Amino acid sequence: MTHSFPLSKLAVCIKQVPVAAAVEFDELRGTIQREGVPSEVSSFDVRALLGALLFRHKEAPDARLAVYTMGPPQAVEALRYCLALGADEAFHLCDRAFAGSDTLATARALSDVLRRQRPDIAFFGRNSTDSETGHVGAQVAELLGWPQITAIQELHLLGPGRVSAVRQIDEGMELVQAELPVIITAAEDFAEERYPSKEEREQVRGRRVVQISLAELDVPSRDRYGFSGSPTMVDGIRVVSEPARRGILLENEDLATQLRIFQEFLASAPKGVESRSQKPLPAPSVGETPDARILVVTEMLGRELRPVSLELLGKAAWLGTTMSAQVEAFVMGPNASSQVPTLAAHGASVAHVMEGRGLVLGTEELTHVLSRLIAQREPRIVVFPSTSASRDVAPRVAARLDAGLTSDCVDLEIDESGTLVQHKAAFGDNAVALIRSRTLPEMATVRPGMLEAAAPDWSRRAAVMRVDPNGLPRARTSILERIVTEDQAVRSLESDETVIGVGMGIGSVSNISVVERLAKHLGAGIGATRKVADAGWLPRQCQVGLSGRAVSPEMYIALGVRGAYEHIVGMRRSGIVIAVNNDPDAMIFDHADLGIVQDCMAFITRLLEPEPLDVAAVQFGR
Ligand SMILES: Cc1cc2nc3c(=O)[nH]c(=O)nc-3n(C[C@H](O)[C@H](O)[C@H](O)COP(=O)(O)OP(=O)(O)OC[C@H]3O[C@@H](n4cnc5c(N)ncnc54)[C@H](O)[C@@H]3O)c2cc1C
Repeated sequence: MTHSFPLSKLAVCIKQVPVAAAVEFDELRGTIQREGVPSEVSSFDVRALLGALLFRHKEAPDARLAVYTMGPPQAVEALRYCLALGADEAFHLCDRAFAGSDTLATARALSDVLRRQRPDIAFFGRNSTDSETGHVGAQVAELLGWPQITAIQELHLLGPGRVSAVRQIDEGMELVQAELPVIITAAEDFAEERYPSKEEREQVRGRRVVQISLAELDVPSRDRYGFSGSPTMVDGIRVVSEPARRGILLENEDLATQLRIFQEFLASAPKGVESRSQKPLPAPSVGETPDARILVVTEMLGRELRPVSLELLGKAAWLGTTMSAQVEAFVMGPNASSQVPTLAAHGASVAHVMEGRGLVLGTEELTHVLSRLIAQREPRIVVFPSTSASRDVAPRVAARLDAGLTSDCVDLEIDESGTLVQHKAAFGDNAVALIRSRTLPEMATVRPGMLEAAAPDWSRRAAVMRVDPNGLPRARTSILERIVTEDQAVRSLESDETVIGVGMGIGSVSNISVVERLAKHLGAGIGATRKVADAGWLPRQCQVGLSGRAVSPEMYIALGVRGAYEHIVGMRRSGIVIAVNNDPDAMIFDHADLGIVQDCMAFITRLLEPEPLDVAAVQFGR
């Protein structure tokens, strides 16, 4: 496909979602009450649209910008909202045949329409705020055969047929270049939030929205769309209840008394805060048939395996026992073969090793390698870590193999019929959807820190199978630079036993160093509210909540955090919550075991100086 320069067409794909804060969860019945709940355009999609408009203004002033959605008749309102924000035209894929589509069936319909419309760039939000999969952009890219750049915060036109973008990754940022046409997914920082004015809404009231039915897509078969064409199905919903909180509020006590009670509270904390104990590895299973294999796609962080890789191996070993399946691991990197003993000790019987000097594969090349490996080995189950890299690759592999994928699982189990049940957090962790695949392999990405690595058995050995690093497709994206944040606390947030949540109440960026001292003292990770990340006081990767990450440490210490719903959903699974806030009515106290009404900097400064209380010793019972 050749591309004109300057650009002539931009597309933005959006989803209408229920307003998360208005959805009611019935913990007893395990149901989600959506009726009568207002809808909105998913917030990352709004950023995608606003960023695309800005990009057009600066770099492609002649391009027409169209918005697309697939959804029920009422989704026309979401498209009108986008017209009010500045889109030129709107297309609505609306047909009963689309009802019940999962992400792959949705991606098929959107890619069918984009193939005909031939935009230069198609923008999506990083993920939707209801189902939070982040699949659709990557799967549309795969189905169209285009490159993708996900979670971007900046985009520039480099010249004929090329763009460069700054994208957010788990460890920092990447500067990436890609050929057009390209799929872009937007992070929050791609554009500032904006709402249409009353006048803008009035102006688009009667504007035409083009309706597209399945028949108009002129596709060879109808059975790849809607519920029946979806490779995954939701089998039930479990509403997650927040642990009962002790609700102690220290309002009138002086600072010294508050510190003493804080210390006593930690010492008498009812929940176990000792290190998570490791289960031993079960005896290895022998995969006698091809479908009795579980493939774990591992990832490296520098020269080490990421901890989540070992968590996945531990889970796979236990699933393998239930279904008599052998665990196989894929490892890639310049020193990949040196990881084989570790993979074996954590449960892998076979290690697929891809090694080469300076070997770094992009999403498309890795999709090719993994799809080929899966076709050869025919595993029943494939699991990936839910990291920025794997969340790019797994949806493409699933789309290429026509397989179901569930992302960001918090657990996996095998039911009595031998099917993999994938537990997926949704609605900002308020609910867990139980999802099954109707296709093989059953594929899932799993959130770091949710599963336990088994205690290693260093007497185990794994057979090594080499994966050929040659014959890869030509790369259409390239990483020009990677800026990795040095902050270890940022990297490990999901697996930290203690997380300090930093809110605007700490007062200024200069106080971050004091928080860091406290974090070091407690061996804690550092999280942030969105406002703190917006202000640049802490990296975006620290953001906890609806549009950030979810954490479930044994202890969460909220400093100067108001307790907005969007923040709470990211930390509500924490074991013990302690909050320090100078407003006795702050919402965070409704979610805390211990609330301390105090200036948070005065509190932590006193905690650290002149003789720091040995909080860590109290906490871990040393
Ligand atoms: C679509 C959408 C998605 C969002 N996603 C997220 C998300 O992922 N994560 C997130 O966190 N937010 C998110 N938000 C934003 C959220 O609604 C809140 O605006 C944000 O969490 C508030 O941050 P804060 O508590 O740091 O700041 P503020 O609301 O400014 O609260 C500061 C708090 O500090 C207290 N305080 C002030 N001074 C002191 C002091 N000296 N000592 C002690 N306490 C003090 C105040 O009493 C107040 O309670 C989202 C919003 C939307 C609309």
